[in-house]
Amino acid sequence: MKNINASHTPLYREAGFNLKDSKTAKQAFSAEIDHPHEPDNYIYSRYRNPTTVAVEKQIMELENCNWALLVETGMAAIDVAVSIFQKGKETGPCLFFHEIYGGTNSFIDTVLIKRRNMDIRRFYANNGSYDLGELENMLKEISPEFLYFEAVSNPMLIVADVKKIMALAKQYHCKIIVDNTFGTPYLWKPLLDGADLVIHSVTKYLSGHGNITAGVICGNDKDLMKEAIEYRKWAGHFLSPDDAYRLGTQLKTFELRFKQHCDNASVLAEYLENHPKIEEVLYPGLESHPTRKEAVDLFGNKGFGGMLTFDIKGNSDEDKREKCNCFISALENTIPLVPTLGEVDTILLPVEPVWGAKYPLPGVIRLSVGIENIELLKSRIGEALEKI
Ligand SMILES: *Cc1c(COP(=O)(O)O)cnc(C)c1O
Repeated sequence: MKNINASHTPLYREAGFNLKDSKTAKQAFSAEIDHPHEPDNYIYSRYRNPTTVAVEKQIMELENCNWALLVETGMAAIDVAVSIFQKGKETGPCLFFHEIYGGTNSFIDTVLIKRRNMDIRRFYANNGSYDLGELENMLKEISPEFLYFEAVSNPMLIVADVKKIMALAKQYHCKIIVDNTFGTPYLWKPLLDGADLVIHSVTKYLSGHGNITAGVICGNDKDLMKEAIEYRKWAGHFLSPDDAYRLGTQLKTFELRFKQHCDNASVLAEYLENHPKIEEVLYPGLESHPTRKEAVDLFGNKGFGGMLTFDIKGNSDEDKREKCNCFISALENTIPLVPTLGEVDTILLPVEPVWGAKYPLPGVIRLSVGIENIELLKSRIGEALEKI
């Protein structure tokens, strides 16, 4: 095709590319692992696609890193990040925080333990905080291949003292994988603080519109990233150029959107904290939040994220459950119950029906605060609270 001076990255939908002659083919096949974001010689879209590569470069700027590999979901990104540390029977134990995305805990149980027979250890929070002495003992005792954590836990929004955690991991020569979906590069760039790999569920804030699923693995360590490229290619993880194209457009507004998520969530958190029908609000920006100090240390004055969790008042568990249901029904058409997060529209999720025994909290709702006009949001929530 002739050069038509496109002003935006074109959408290249082809599976395989025209390599012209054997010399170009040889060049393409030999260069592709060393410089995944550079050469023009594209081979096959499962290896690399020009539309996808252009969007990977946008993410490299956001995370301040040298390599970013897009895949089809956040779970696929986790699969890539974890799998590159597997060395068959030689694989040592791997250490995961327990306060992480529920799907990641299911991946650990159903894939890593049940099917791959990996030695997985978990580090648990105690009453909403992390005992770093206990973490240090585990690192010393088991010498894990890597430590895997999220800076902000879900749905209770505990903010970890990540700089200390990372310093401990380094002291025991343990690699660090961070799932930065909740923090986003707007609030924190873990690779600048020494993480070895960062993954995102791009489905959430980075894409932000709830109309694609995607994931990404970011890093600066060439050897690790070469392993990731190899694994992505041969395990068949891949983001379709159509989704990459849409993501490329969405990423241009990421920082604007995320600032608005943070601003709206701060205002709503205060509004709810002062509302007579609300028992408690968990938002890392509130003075009352148990890990506000950690949040301020990590995020500075940039904001505290778009997620907030609150508890509706009630006389008993049954009463709370009923009020929670009533609140959700009143919002059905404006703030719907949708099991995802990070969208431009505000959505909610009741904690007890979703997390079950892990969080048996009948009046608790997790809100993914969108970027709507804040007065509109307050009035919608206020009206629904009036009805209970
Ligand atoms: C949603 C989510 C994932 C999984 O991402 P998918 O895109 O749904 O596969 C992983 N980690 C966190 C923190 C998430 O919120």
